[in-house]
Amino acid sequence: MEQSLLLKDGFIVLPGETVRGSIRIKGEIIEETGKLTPRENEEVLDCRGFYFLPGGIETHTHLQLESMGTVTADDFASGTRAALAGGTTTVIDFATQFHGETMARGLKRWHEKADGKCATDYGFHMALTEWNSQLKGEMESIVAGGVSSFKMYMAYKNNMMVREDEIYDALEETQRLGATIGFHCENGLLIDVLVRRERERGHLTPYFHQISRPAELEEEAIVRLEAVNHLLHANHHIVHLSTSRGLTAINRSRERGIHILVETCPQYLLLEASRYGTPSSEDFEAAKYIMSPPLRERRDQEALWDGLASGEIQFVGTDHCSFNFKGQKEMGRDDFSKIPNGAPGIELRLHLLYAYGVARGRMDINRFSEVTSTNAAKYFGLYPRKGILQAGSDADIVIFDPDPEWTVRGEDLHENCDYTPYENFELKGRVRDVFLRGRHKVASGKIVIEEADGRYLGRLLPDMDIR
Ligand SMILES: [Zn+2]
Repeated sequence: MEQSLLLKDGFIVLPGETVRGSIRIKGEIIEETGKLTPRENEEVLDCRGFYFLPGGIETHTHLQLESMGTVTADDFASGTRAALAGGTTTVIDFATQFHGETMARGLKRWHEKADGKCATDYGFHMALTEWNSQLKGEMESIVAGGVSSFKMYMAYKNNMMVREDEIYDALEETQRLGATIGFHCENGLLIDVLVRRERERGHLTPYFHQISRPAELEEEAIVRLEAVNHLLHANHHIVHLSTSRGLTAINRSRERGIHILVETCPQYLLLEASRYGTPSSEDFEAAKYIMSPPLRERRDQEALWDGLASGEIQFVGTDHCSFNFKGQKEMGRDDFSKIPNGAPGIELRLHLLYAYGVARGRMDINRFSEVTSTNAAKYFGLYPRKGILQAGSDADIVIFDPDPEWTVRGEDLHENCDYTPYENFELKGRVRDVFLRGRHKVASGKIVIEEADGRYLGRLLPDMDIR
């Protein structure tokens, strides 16, 4: 008979409550939780003083993505390994259909990148770079194959941007299928003009990236998107929300009865636009923070934290899209528009959210667990297999010590990138142990099982009933 393992006497974090108790793991599954006593010869791990959290679910990564003439620094091996070390046990990446391709072709390519290389379980969203009747005809089989969420871009003209009529058409089809679409909301036409103007003026330093992508362009795209949804009321969410203005627009649409789910990212909660320096600063270090949408202001951060706590924002992904400073970010040394867009973050998501959210009193541990795991599991069709600590669920468990205080050092991270935007951040609380389907892969903070045993997750249709 297969041996069980007892995680004894911790605090089990559940939606809305925290219960003192133990968790028994048998094979890949949680057998039971509650007040449990060790069985004869059962292995016991003493967890007094620690939290039990459901393994983190990362909703937004770009691993091994070809972009702007280069490829992201993290592939599926290094990216998921970093995720695991940080308490994330499921990663949902954006498989991308490039121009002229079918979705099936894009998906196959992503399977080739990921299969047999992942340290966590993983799934794919399907990112579309265009829209046409052929892609529409393909959606049903893609959804049936376990990819129940898509992504469309309202930015990146001539590259990925879609128009409202195309959005309407796509949403009509996902609505018919019960699937969903996440939208990158920025006005791509205006960004193009603004970038051109800055370059014509000789404004080529990283500072001008944010000047060409102001907050109003996120707000405007959200208003435009929600006009479509006022007609359709289809499942959808907004990816990487970065502004207070955007959140206000979302709430206004909600007052008209539109159901909108929202993702934000640690960088929009914690890093400010001041990182870009000033119009006259020559410091190219600012390139480390070039991402789209760009970093915003303090008032935006406050609005996003409040939104996360109150239920206006439902989950946190990182948009992990890592490029090395040396050799990659440097491609744009003479022109900010050539700096690859994106930054790393996959490893620190739980740590940042705990230290600056829970430990600072912005949200309780239960809300923390919802926005880092449970809500994503429900919306992305993985619940109750993932996202909850209960009998029958996968034994994806994080043992979290709330006490240690430590400082982020990029060189200590597992991400394959030569910097972290969070260098020198002071943290409180630390991921101690991580179980992936019952396998004790991280012990006392160290990865002890290096095997790439992560499994592909076919996902069910979204559950929209989350807060
Ligand atoms: Zn992204």
